[in-house]
Amino acid sequence: MKLEKQCVVCGNPFFAANNKGTYCSGACRSVAWRKRNLKYAWQEEDLTRLEELQEDYISLQSSHKYAMQKCKEYEIKIGQLQAERKVLNELNMRLMQ
Ligand SMILES: [Zn+2]
Repeated sequence: MKLEKQCVVCGNPFFAANNKGTYCSGACRSVAWRKRNLKYAWQEEDLTRLEELQEDYISLQSSHKYAMQKCKEYEIKIGQLQAERKVLNELNMRLMQ
């Protein structure tokens, strides 16, 4: 028996093979999987957070030598956030197609 359902990712109606089906396609399933596995949800806050981190990083860099360790930590965090934003941007682009 097939059930007409709505894809939780793209919102398109589709026929699910069973009651558990929530995605219209493998592509939507992988989008959902990747979104679930991202450390941060894609929100405006992430942009602000990234900007704040970069500002802190720059101000630390131009201040004292003891701040070097903190700079290293920020560098890693900024890198992670940028990588996640890139993935999320790709996912959003794909959803808009
Ligand atoms: Zn879908």
